[in-house]
Amino acid sequence: MLLPDSRGYFGQFGGKFIPETLSLCLKELQDSYASIKKSKKFNQELDLLLRDYAGRPTPLYKASSLSKELGMNIYIKREDLLHTGAHKINNALGQALLARFMGKKRIVAETGAGQHGVATATVSTLLGINCYIYMGIEDMQRQKANVFRMKILGAKVIPVDSGSKTLKDACSQAFRDWVANVKDTYYLLGSAVGPCPYPQLVRDFQSVIGKEAKRQIIGQHKKMPDYLVACVGGGSNAIGFFHPFFKEKKVRFIGVEAAGFGLSGSSAASLVKGTIGVFQGAKSYVLQNQSGQIKDTHSIAPGLDYPGVGPEHSFYKSIKRAEYKAVSDKQALEGFNLLSKTEGIIPALEPAHAIYYLKKMAKGNKGKTVILCLSGRGDKDLDIVRECKL
Ligand SMILES: *Cc1c(COP(=O)(O)O)cnc(C)c1O
Repeated sequence: MLLPDSRGYFGQFGGKFIPETLSLCLKELQDSYASIKKSKKFNQELDLLLRDYAGRPTPLYKASSLSKELGMNIYIKREDLLHTGAHKINNALGQALLARFMGKKRIVAETGAGQHGVATATVSTLLGINCYIYMGIEDMQRQKANVFRMKILGAKVIPVDSGSKTLKDACSQAFRDWVANVKDTYYLLGSAVGPCPYPQLVRDFQSVIGKEAKRQIIGQHKKMPDYLVACVGGGSNAIGFFHPFFKEKKVRFIGVEAAGFGLSGSSAASLVKGTIGVFQGAKSYVLQNQSGQIKDTHSIAPGLDYPGVGPEHSFYKSIKRAEYKAVSDKQALEGFNLLSKTEGIIPALEPAHAIYYLKKMAKGNKGKTVILCLSGRGDKDLDIVRECKL
């Protein structure tokens, strides 16, 4: 797979829509990544950290109770068991190590759920690099425990009170910081979004999910699964999971977005409800009004509460390699309960959207084999769920 092309495009999506000031830093990043990616020393160090620090490989767990309940053959890729509780550490470790190889002294990042912030603060501390996290004040309110974690880890959390006070605004502020301090600063982007080379870089670091799952399903099930199902916010866990299966034409990909209050109200379903536009440096599907203003989004899952999506998913949608569905807040809570009650695994609210979708697809797919990417665990979301009075 040679995508993206040399200009950073996946079909018509992606690219680099950026102010002049950013073009040099992106060029430096792209060139450094191209050479470091081939370095044996870099890859050995990353593999060791993924194994001994983050806890890879994560198990592929055959979920017998859930399988019985839904009448499908369900395997769960356990990213929830990783250090810091979600898949985000895969990308954070890769990029922080890249930052160190590039000689950067400062890491900036944005965070929504706080999971990427915690992962970034964690790896920055591990590698001895100063860390600054931008976070919307609405998210800080919703994810107090993660804010506290970042502070314990020694990161500086910078509140963002512009716009909708959530992830996209934090993202814009982090970009501004990078432009102003580019010499010694590395911008550690948390999902497979943004201008080239980020979508590819994040996908590559998250592809460890799909590579392991492919090996594991062959080992345990002796053949390819019928479906891969994952939640899609910016799209990093899903693309890292799907990409290594791209050439397995019979394996169908389903990405599950957040329908929030429902698709006619406020949602975060960029692929299902959005239109093609340019947002945060790339061409992709985005939730915008007719004059191109970005819409306010809503999802019960802070990590899905984002109006854009990675360009590679837009490409998969356009060539029909993947299907994208949307699941509401209420349904996600049902998914949350379903996994907790059948398997004794409390999921994060983001993958709870994908779990609900399993239930929905089960009707027409009895006996089919599905791998669910369980991107994170539910500890961070207990306050939100408690307030919903299940
Ligand atoms: C951040 C997050 C997501 C959404 O991000 P993607 O880039 O779409 O993977 C999903 N699940 C969890 C647990 C998260 O923390």
